[in-house]
Amino acid sequence: MTPTEVPEAELEVDLGAILANWRDLCARHGAAVAGVVKADGYGLGAAPVARALAGGGCRHFFVAQWAEGMALRAALGDGPMIAVLGGFPPGADAGAGLTPVLNTPQDIAAWGNVAATPAGTILHLDTGMERLGLTRAERAALAPGALDRLGLRYVMTHLACADDPAHPLNALQAARFAEAAGAFPGIPRSFANSAGLFLGPDFASALARPGCALYGINPTPGHPNPMRQVMRLTVPVLQVRRVAAGTPVGYGATWVAKRDSMVATIAAGYADGYLRALSSQGTGIVAGRPVPLVGRVSMDLITLDVTDAPDLRPGDRVEMIGPSQTADEVAALAGTIGYEVLTSLGARYRRRYLPA
Ligand SMILES: *Cc1c(COP(=O)(O)O)cnc(C)c1O
Repeated sequence: MTPTEVPEAELEVDLGAILANWRDLCARHGAAVAGVVKADGYGLGAAPVARALAGGGCRHFFVAQWAEGMALRAALGDGPMIAVLGGFPPGADAGAGLTPVLNTPQDIAAWGNVAATPAGTILHLDTGMERLGLTRAERAALAPGALDRLGLRYVMTHLACADDPAHPLNALQAARFAEAAGAFPGIPRSFANSAGLFLGPDFASALARPGCALYGINPTPGHPNPMRQVMRLTVPVLQVRRVAAGTPVGYGATWVAKRDSMVATIAAGYADGYLRALSSQGTGIVAGRPVPLVGRVSMDLITLDVTDAPDLRPGDRVEMIGPSQTADEVAALAGTIGYEVLTSLGARYRRRYLPA
C-alpha cells in the first residue's frame, strides 16, 4: 500500500436489488407503487436510487422536504410525480414541478393563492397518527370549492402501526380512511407504506408508498424478511496489533484483553453513523465469520478483537453492515431500528453503485 492509496470505507449499493424489491412490491400490491426516497434515499442515495426505479417504470416518488424534491427533479428530469410529504416552504415556486402534500387548512389556503399548480397536490387526511394531515373536524369544515383549483391528484393517509399486524389501530385507520376519502369521490387514494403492503387487501390503494422495504429493511418484523438485501458497508483495516492479556483498549479503557489478543483498528466511527451505542455490542464480518467489536466506538475508528481471524492484514476489509449482518440486526444490537441505521450512514463513505 503506497501513501496515495489511503483506504476508504465503502458503501456498495445494489440498484438492481432495489429495483427487484420495488417489482416484488408492485406484484404484491397489484396497483401503482411509488418510491419513497426521502432522507437521501434512506441514506443510500436518492438520485441513483430514483433513477434506477424510474428506469424500471416507477412514475411516483415521495420526499420529505422541498429542497429534496428540487434536487430529485434535477436528477430525474420531467415526467415522474415528485411529491413532498412536508408540504411547501414560504415562497416555494409552484412552477418547480413538485407536488406538495397539503397537511393543514392553512396549507390549502396558502397553496390555493398560488397562481397555477401544474404538478397538482395531494391532500393528507389524518386517520390516527395525530401528526400531520387534516383532522376529521378540519375536513368537515372545508369550505365548498376550497380544493377546486388545487389539482388534487390523491388523498392519502399514513399508518401508525403497520409493522404490528395485530394492532387494532390498523383496521380503525382503514375504516376511517374509507370514510374520509369518500368525501372526495373520483380522487385516487394512497395508503400503505412498506409494512402496510403486507396487511392485506383492506390496505391496498391506487398508490402505495413504500420506503424501507425497497432498501431491504424487513417490512414484516418477527417473520422472515421477504426483501432482498441491497447494501454492504466494508471498512478497511488500518492496523492490527498484539495486545497482551490485561491491557485495556480504547476510550475509557472499557475493554480489557482477557488473553493475549490481536486487535484490528478499522477506519469508520460514530461520525460516519456507526452508532456509538454499538460499543462492545457490534460485530465485524471477516471471511464470513463474526469478530467482536471491543471497547468504545470512537469518532473515526472502531476496534475489533481479531485473535480468531489470524490472516487479517492492514488494507483488508471488514463487513460492518450487509448481507451477513443486516441493518435490522445491527439496529437490534444498538437498541434502534434499521431505518435509523440506514439514514445515519455517513457522508464520508465512498458510494459504489451496482447498476440496475
Ligand atoms: C416515510 C413515509 C413512508 C414510507 O414508510 P416506510 O415505512 O419506510 O415504508 C410512507 N408515507 C409517509 C407519509 C412517510 O412519512
